[in-house]
Amino acid sequence: MSDVSDMNDASVQPQAVLARLRPWWSNNARDLPWRRPGTSPWGVLVSEVMSQQTPMIRVVPYWNAWMRVWPNPAALAKASSAEVITAWGKLGYPRRALRLQECARVVTADFGGELPDDSDALLSLPGVGEYTAAAVAAFAFGRRVAVVDTNIRRVISRVFDGVENYGGATTAADRARAAAALPAVTADSVLWNQAVMELGATVCTASSPQCETCPLNDVCAWRAADYPGMGEKPTRKRQKWRGTNRQVRGRVLDALRQKVTAGADSSGRGRAQLSSVELEALWPDQAQLRECVAGLDDDHLIDILPDGGVAFPNE
Ligand code: SF4
Repeated sequence: MSDVSDMNDASVQPQAVLARLRPWWSNNARDLPWRRPGTSPWGVLVSEVMSQQTPMIRVVPYWNAWMRVWPNPAALAKASSAEVITAWGKLGYPRRALRLQECARVVTADFGGELPDDSDALLSLPGVGEYTAAAVAAFAFGRRVAVVDTNIRRVISRVFDGVENYGGATTAADRARAAAALPAVTADSVLWNQAVMELGATVCTASSPQCETCPLNDVCAWRAADYPGMGEKPTRKRQKWRGTNRQVRGRVLDALRQKVTAGADSSGRGRAQLSSVELEALWPDQAQLRECVAGLDDDHLIDILPDGGVAFPNE
């Protein structure tokens, strides 16, 4: 990657990219509910947390249901763990649900129930990392801040530097690169973050960029250089799902969710639980099952009961 200071000397200028992104964004941005006018900053934060490990399009029904029940931090702060973990459904990585609730409690107790509007205060909240803080500052509060995610890094690297970005952890150079490309006018910077991210998610994807329909195809340095490094990304062997601890953990939580859903007290406060017999029937390898149950307990996603059964935490 070339040095950040080279950016202004490069043939691809951010203004030329912005001029192409602006109409593309207004005609092609997906109609996601949290992008609609009137969405609260809290709603934007919820969408960002839900989509951390899950494609946005899968998040939509969960976000809609979640925001109907818990439209603000105060409402979520009062929910039970059983309700929260149940509503998280199949979004995956359910510790995120509990962290989001922790965040809601801190916002309610320490910030008067309103999300703070700058990146540093956002960063102090439970479960809010650098990316999420920047995304909320930009998308919810209209701040000029460089948002850096995998999609933005890939598009910037390809378009401006003409090199492939192979992912991995965000580096200081990635952040500096994104900051250098960010338009100076605040309103433009908000559009820029959204549009570059959307382009990376829908057009300039990692494995099959659709250059023919891309609004940047006449200025893209990577395309002009004939895609150096295309397909050379060192691939990590994909962890198979079947038989993994993730599958077992998901099965235990699913069984508990079904109990909550079917329970007499649909709020989950009736403490739906699985007996030890029901638990053992969930998975044939009992040693693996015990390991997973212990892990869920350590993560505060379930309680192990004295009789060997399990329940959602009684909080
Ligand atoms: S022209 Fe192709 S490589 Fe360049 S930004 Fe568009 S989709 Fe990505």
